[in-house]
Amino acid sequence: MNLNKITLSFTNKNIEEKFRKEYFDKSLIMFRVSLIIVTIFYAAFGYFDYVSSPNFYQDFFIIRYLIVLPLFLGVFLFSFKKYYIKVWQQLLSICYVVGGLGIIYMLLRNPNNIQYYGGMFLIFSSGYFLVKLRFIWASTSGIFLIASYNIGAFLFQDLYDLQYDYLFIINAFYIAANIISMIALYNMEFLERKDFHQRILLSEKQDEIGIINQSLENQVKERTQQLNKRNTELVTEIGYRNEIERKLVFAKEKAEESDRLKSAFLANMSHEIRTPMNGILGFADLLEQPMLSEEDQRKYIGIIQNSGARMLNLINDLIDISKVEAGQMEVVNTDININRQIEYVYAFFKPEVEKKKIQLLYNNQFTEEEAIIKTDKEKINAILTNLVKNAIKYSDKGTIELGYKKKNNNLEFYVKDTGIGIIGAQLDAIFDRFVQADISDTRAYQGAGLGLTITKAYVEILGGKIWVKSVVDKGSTFYFTIPYHQSTIHC
Ligand code: ADP
Repeated sequence: MNLNKITLSFTNKNIEEKFRKEYFDKSLIMFRVSLIIVTIFYAAFGYFDYVSSPNFYQDFFIIRYLIVLPLFLGVFLFSFKKYYIKVWQQLLSICYVVGGLGIIYMLLRNPNNIQYYGGMFLIFSSGYFLVKLRFIWASTSGIFLIASYNIGAFLFQDLYDLQYDYLFIINAFYIAANIISMIALYNMEFLERKDFHQRILLSEKQDEIGIINQSLENQVKERTQQLNKRNTELVTEIGYRNEIERKLVFAKEKAEESDRLKSAFLANMSHEIRTPMNGILGFADLLEQPMLSEEDQRKYIGIIQNSGARMLNLINDLIDISKVEAGQMEVVNTDININRQIEYVYAFFKPEVEKKKIQLLYNNQFTEEEAIIKTDKEKINAILTNLVKNAIKYSDKGTIELGYKKKNNNLEFYVKDTGIGIIGAQLDAIFDRFVQADISDTRAYQGAGLGLTITKAYVEILGGKIWVKSVVDKGSTFYFTIPYHQSTIHC
């Protein structure tokens, strides 16, 4: 704690100012109360002047009631002003000194009266302990009063015949009283300043702690934000990686399946090629036999023609699928009458169906006018043909029905049979390439498994979708859609 050892002021001006402000604030009430008490005593003790000093009563009256008391009351009233804080110690010192000088004057004028000696003690004790003067002001004022007393005593010595030993004793008491009071006040003010200083240090430390706390909080907040951000990034990254992993697994499975299907396809292909080739070659050999009856000849030629047709079918399918895969399949839109198209497919398959003793039905919903649409005739024909061909191939009884209806902006076609049906697990797979070869419950039907793949590719090229609903042994219904573009040309 840095303070001036004599004045007790803090060397730090800022701290000193704060201390003075606080000291003033907490002393103000006490100061006013004590000033009133001192004023009352100072006025009341005028009665003793009247009793013990009738000769000087007029002088003393002027000092008490016309000088000192107005001064005290004036300072009291002034204490309610705002700028009083700036001069309160000085004004109090003046009150102390003036009050003291008044008593000293009375003492010197009437040295035989004991009451004024006691009065000085009251003045000293009030100055040091009652009116809240600070050490430096109380001490200098006290010393000033003792000095004034001595100077006055010498000035008035001849006049009143003041004795040295008497003066010495009084000085001893006054000086002792002042020294005791100074030490006490010094100690009190020192402790008060120490307490204040510690409080200031404490609040500074608290401020520092507050700042450190704040900065720690900020750091924690910033770090938390960073962590949260990183966390979100990690979650996104994990999601991204999972997605990649999922795609990779999917791609791997696809590749494996593709590989498996290809092997199966090759095996099936060799069977599909070899069977008709054997048929052709075998029966061509048989045809060379002499003595062959005409009926046998016709039979063998029929088998050779069938095998050739099967080969041609296969080769056409292969060409189509490779065109689709190479993206070379073009769409040629023309105006067609969809009713005629259905009837054409119906008429085309009617003889074959009748041979199997199955009923073939068709269902045209549109009027002749509505039936004219713009689409690729060849592809629609291929799609319907493929589906009906399959329906015939995989049915031995019942009916096969084909038709269409309008749904929103699409035409939804269907080919319904009452054949062997498809096992649930295979419903999605049948549109994949080479699948016939892969279906394990092979029910011994001819085919390379390319028909539905080509069909699906065609439907998609035309902007539609294909799907199937099927129940084993009850039959299957294949659906496909194409956008319904009604032609502007009407027939
Ligand atoms: P495939 O030349 O073998 O007929 P597809 O691609 O036309 O080749 O058909 C794939 C598979 O879908 C067939 O092998 C068959 O198992 C099944 N399938 C297709 N249509 C039908 C149907 N109408 N009824 C039952 N199964 C069918």
